[in-house]
Amino acid sequence: MSQYYKPHRKVDWNYGGPRWRLSRSKIDLFIQCPRCFYIDNKLGTARPPGFPFNLNSAVDKLLKKEFDIHRNSKSTHPLMSKYGVDAIPFEHKKMDTWRENFKGIDCFHAPTGFTVSGAIDDVWVSPKGELHIVDYKATSKDEEVTLDAEWQDGYKRQMEVYQWLFRQNEFTVSDMGYFVYANGRTDTEAFDGKLEFDVKVIPYVGKADWIDGTLLEIKACLDADVIPKTGEACDYCTYRKAVGEVLQPFIKKDVGSSKISKAKSKDSEDSHEQSLFR
Ligand code: SF4
Repeated sequence: MSQYYKPHRKVDWNYGGPRWRLSRSKIDLFIQCPRCFYIDNKLGTARPPGFPFNLNSAVDKLLKKEFDIHRNSKSTHPLMSKYGVDAIPFEHKKMDTWRENFKGIDCFHAPTGFTVSGAIDDVWVSPKGELHIVDYKATSKDEEVTLDAEWQDGYKRQMEVYQWLFRQNEFTVSDMGYFVYANGRTDTEAFDGKLEFDVKVIPYVGKADWIDGTLLEIKACLDADVIPKTGEACDYCTYRKAVGEVLQPFIKKDVGSSKISKAKSKDSEDSHEQSLFR
């Protein structure tokens, strides 16, 4: 078994256990597929994780460092000036915790009893003291980066959950959030050990009114003893079904051979017992 993937999690981490929390990414998994969400959170078997995107993590880390310089000096980053954002990076004693995976910012949601959490990239603050949630993204594509693709709806939900979490923690949060989008250029003459990026700030007006209703749906899903429906057009399930089909003949053979081997081992146990009483 891979050292990275443990298919059966300790029950403490499952729904009902003392360590279970509803993270932002779990909310998104529920929206994509209630069945996989249920298998993960209630039954304790998550899908294998994807391979880590080390280049994206490096961009995140460097952007954090860069905005931290302006956080410390209480100054506007040139990108904020370029895109007309009247704000500076927000300074708060919990900033490092809010950014840490598996910690982040959290809140207790009384109607469901859930602790909901999420780890942010950044927060900016306007002169009026209103917070703007900021998320860093990295990609490499020839065309201009936008938020228009259907698969980017997850990015928008991510922003909205963060806005909601900060509001639950009594902060004044603007609906206006920002994506700092770094696009790796492939039109340079040569690699020369350097990857250059065009960095763009894309504003997004969040609408977090779906979250309370979704949390109630998640609670109903987790409290039920039925396996919920699957999401649409999922390659994982198509793969699982296809594998099940091609393995069927082998499974039948296996059952047959295991019956034979059980019978054989029963015989040998019997003969072993007989030999003891002889
Ligand atoms: S449809 Fe996909 S996401 Fe849903 S249960 Fe199947 S594998 Fe999981």
